[in-house]
Amino acid sequence: METTQEIVQAVQAAGVTGAGGAGFPTYVKLQAEAEFVIANGAECEPLTHVDKQLLIHHAPEVIAGLRAAMQATGAARGILGVKGKYKEIIAGLKAVLGNTTDITIAELGNFYPAGDEQVLVYDVLGRVVPEGGLPINVGCVVQNIETLYNIDAALNGRPVTEKYITVIGAVRKPMTVKVPIGVTLAEVLALAGGATVPDPVILDGGAMMGNVVGDLNAPVTKRTKMLLVLPYDHQLSVKRRTPRTVFDAHAIAACDQCYMCTDYCPRHAQGHAIQPHKLILLLASGVPMTDAQMAGALLCCECRTCNYACPVHLAPGDIALNIKRDLLKEGFKNPYHRTTEADPYRDYRRVPMTRLINRLDLAKYDAAAPLTAVTQPFSRVELRMSQHIGMPALPIVKVGDVVKTGDLVGEIIKGGMGAPVHASIDGVVRQVSNEFIVIEAN
Ligand code: SF4
Ligand code: SF4
Repeated sequence: METTQEIVQAVQAAGVTGAGGAGFPTYVKLQAEAEFVIANGAECEPLTHVDKQLLIHHAPEVIAGLRAAMQATGAARGILGVKGKYKEIIAGLKAVLGNTTDITIAELGNFYPAGDEQVLVYDVLGRVVPEGGLPINVGCVVQNIETLYNIDAALNGRPVTEKYITVIGAVRKPMTVKVPIGVTLAEVLALAGGATVPDPVILDGGAMMGNVVGDLNAPVTKRTKMLLVLPYDHQLSVKRRTPRTVFDAHAIAACDQCYMCTDYCPRHAQGHAIQPHKLILLLASGVPMTDAQMAGALLCCECRTCNYACPVHLAPGDIALNIKRDLLKEGFKNPYHRTTEADPYRDYRRVPMTRLINRLDLAKYDAAAPLTAVTQPFSRVELRMSQHIGMPALPIVKVGDVVKTGDLVGEIIKGGMGAPVHASIDGVVRQVSNEFIVIEAN
């Protein structure tokens, strides 16, 4: 068995970063001392299947990664958070766990956003993460399922060179695939048979938290998890293309301050000082974005649950997240750090997944998307030096170098926080810049 230091070093050298969202370097999280490591298998973004497929096909590796994370952080207990409705997956996990008692399974409800890490920590342990805080403030490290799989791979000498992605929506064959990091989004879309609609709009990351893909030639990164393909006139496509000035103006004109958005906000339900209805009131009053009263937006987790809640179809979530991003750009720091209590009515303000899928007009796309083997070779990859939170990696190869899959091509600056980058196909380095490296197959 490896020591804590060996685990942290292996995970750092393998370039493991959070595969479920922001891309935080995993080795940093593993250096914390924790009571619990929670595996986040909630996968609450509608129609995502990556975690489910990994738990079906790679449960032993995920559990081994969880045990390694527990060892690194000194956590005596591991908890696998999985939706209770996935009976077969839970049976499979129990079969792998056998009689061991260090890891238990927490059955989660089928609602959005069950996978928000603060929601997860409260649902599993009844602990409220403080405002502006992290799960570690209440003794927990939360790791995404694919991240745990990658931790185990790192300990077996395999760096992160591939990514699991669900391709779903208006495509011929919805599926979950494993592809080399750096292939284009267009190539991933083609694996699923391509779009079935003209002028598709593609949301990278899904219906609630995803962003519109502007360039299908953009490369897959360690953070790519889902491509949701939608018709041009689908309600989500239209909403995501709506300029900020328009949805701000709609909210200022039409918000009746009913408070529903704030009632449904999962972070407000933690007792945190985020109130989307109030942000709209401030906008309508002409208060500048940088006014201290706007600071509650810094507590927004960008889940857009409040958009679902609004009875007149405004976009309070987009308003909150844009204010938050503006404040961060201006260098504002979150002033709220209170220890809070959860709202006693929190559990009555959840968004049932089936209702959300129907409300978003996604029911016709609610398909299985099974893990499907990719047999075709890829001829070119573009590896971004910044696929994670922290400093970009520095290229250590030059044009003409021959590399093999798994070779280190970008390293972390000494003492900096970041993640190294590895070749994801065998080939020759064709381009090198501070932003990316291009490798072409031999
Ligand atoms: S997007 Fe809306 S619901 Fe989600 S945290 Fe932000 S304000 Fe709350
Ligand atoms: S739910 Fe809609 S109408 Fe009600 S306060 Fe929020 S943004 Fe305004």
